[in-house]
Amino acid sequence: MATLGIPQNTIEILQKYNFRFQKKFGQNFLIDTHVLEKIIESAGITKDDFVLEIGPGIGTMTQYLCENARQVMAVEIDDNLIPILQDTLSAYDNVTVVNQDILKLDIAKTAQEYNDGKPIKVVANLPYYITTPIIMGLFESHVPLESITVMVQKEVADRMQSDPGSKDYGALSLAVQYYAKAEIVANVPPNCFMPRPNVGSAVIRLTCHKQNPIQVQDEKFMFRVIRASFNQRRKTLQNGLGNDASLPVTKEQAKEALEQMGLAPTIRGERLSLEEFARLSDILSAMRK
Ligand code: SAM
Repeated sequence: MATLGIPQNTIEILQKYNFRFQKKFGQNFLIDTHVLEKIIESAGITKDDFVLEIGPGIGTMTQYLCENARQVMAVEIDDNLIPILQDTLSAYDNVTVVNQDILKLDIAKTAQEYNDGKPIKVVANLPYYITTPIIMGLFESHVPLESITVMVQKEVADRMQSDPGSKDYGALSLAVQYYAKAEIVANVPPNCFMPRPNVGSAVIRLTCHKQNPIQVQDEKFMFRVIRASFNQRRKTLQNGLGNDASLPVTKEQAKEALEQMGLAPTIRGERLSLEEFARLSDILSAMRK
């Protein structure tokens, strides 16, 4: 099968099956061989690897993954794409196509079955409408992960990779930092997709930490503190934490915790590093006991 990364070949397949793009599924198919090669190279795929691909579309990247990996599982929600994938992937015996919503798949069980529970690689050109739930779902369900190499909206990639003080810094940056090292490996313009998206895209590689880089007593509580700190960006941290109905913290406790850390009561969440949020969370947890 000729590569689908060449626009003419993608058009032929789409016409053969009279395929109609569904906007609700975030369908923008890759039509650039250089970008496809860059993704495979950045993910460092070898013949030892089991790779989970989220949203294979017509199988453009899946073909590259099958060529380079030991075993591939491709999870696609759109029923209409399944007969197409059976056709475009017919040359490969190392791929399993699953017709499911990725948010409903038990990925830890998949890793157990296909990779003896060892860390897996995730590679995808993600549907942009659910980028954050997919990434956070992978991290929070504690699936054994080696790396996640994905195409996302450029703005989301910037948020994942940013540091304290930058305008893009927020709850997503901190969550990603807690679980992985983030690196943008390519910026990708709209003309590399069919149909063209309205936004710029980027490939980001998240290399998962083997051990958490920071120690925190209650990980879940720390993420609640982080979310509350960024819910009202313009408020000071003391007011943001003290006035968040979902967090059992008073304004006075927030003030006292910041004082213990030697931080001004007027400081905003966007100034705190992950280590500082861990410390703040530990102090606030101790006050609740
Ligand atoms: N990998 C293909 C490519 O690069 O050409 C397609 C990428 S396209 C941006 C996203 C794909 O994810 C589409 O095929 C879409 O149908 C699929 N998708 C959307 N939501 C999904 C979900 N919840 N679970 C699994 N696949 C989904």
